[in-house]
Amino acid sequence: MALSQIVWKDGKIIPLEEATISIFSPSVQYAWKGFEGIRFYDTEMGPAVFRLSDHWERFFADTVKELEMTISYSREDLTGAIIQLIQGTGMREGYIRPTVFYPRPELGVHFQQQEASVAIALASWEKKSIADSVTLKISPVMRIHPKSLNVRAKISGHYPNSIRALHDAERSGFSDALLLDYEGNVAEASTTNIFMVKNWALYTPSLGSILPGITRETIITLMRDFGDGAREMEISPEELLASDEVFLCGTAMEILAVTEIDGKMIGDGKKGEVTSHISRLYSDVVHGRDARYLHWLTFVNS
Ligand code: PMP
Repeated sequence: MALSQIVWKDGKIIPLEEATISIFSPSVQYAWKGFEGIRFYDTEMGPAVFRLSDHWERFFADTVKELEMTISYSREDLTGAIIQLIQGTGMREGYIRPTVFYPRPELGVHFQQQEASVAIALASWEKKSIADSVTLKISPVMRIHPKSLNVRAKISGHYPNSIRALHDAERSGFSDALLLDYEGNVAEASTTNIFMVKNWALYTPSLGSILPGITRETIITLMRDFGDGAREMEISPEELLASDEVFLCGTAMEILAVTEIDGKMIGDGKKGEVTSHISRLYSDVVHGRDARYLHWLTFVNS
């Protein structure tokens, strides 16, 4: 993953090394800051951002609201910033990282800053640099409790939970962690949502403890439109281990087959038929090859 050398910050395009923040700001001291993770794809009509308005909805309605921050930029301003960056870098596909934070130094949790800064960088984060299948460890680290933090918001302070779980799984020789919720049901992996297939039917954990992923919602919609739908329900670790296929999904990782959980092989230990079918559908949709979902794409050069 390589970051763009230019960054949009508070209305200006500046060099990456000038996009800095005080280490004594509450955003650094207490991780009181938010972000989004968005992708843009190369299509026949040039680069297009996938489900941008849904990312802005989560950014403004969940993250910025939960942080009680005021920002002087609208969704249209920030969309314009992304278009300016994509055109300025000439990148045809990649990852977009908007971030919202308090820039000024101020100690103590009674911080007074209300006007937050927004910065956006691009990164090349190619699918081929990511494994196509992964192994999971059922984590001793619990997914954050929904009555402790707002799980719908993408707040930086939520991520030490995921990172701690991921590091523990990696130390045990697994690719990623599977976090359970406070009731012991399957929640999600460190930065992806999870689906399982049993007898050709698709299931995913209900909302409540998980981040409501936009990729998860995309798959639910595609399955509703093309197949028998996907059922949202509580899933126990035992049910997951007894399923035929498991896959993870998220903007950055896209769709990743899970071949093993806690040392137990899932299905025949290879990417399954349903997972492969959904991966192909997803790839067609994000690359603008499916006319029914062009409304999910924001074309940079239009
Ligand atoms: N869960 C967590 C904790 C995440 O960080 C992400 C990545 N945003 C996801 C799930 C997947 O969400 P999305 O499909 O919106 O990228």
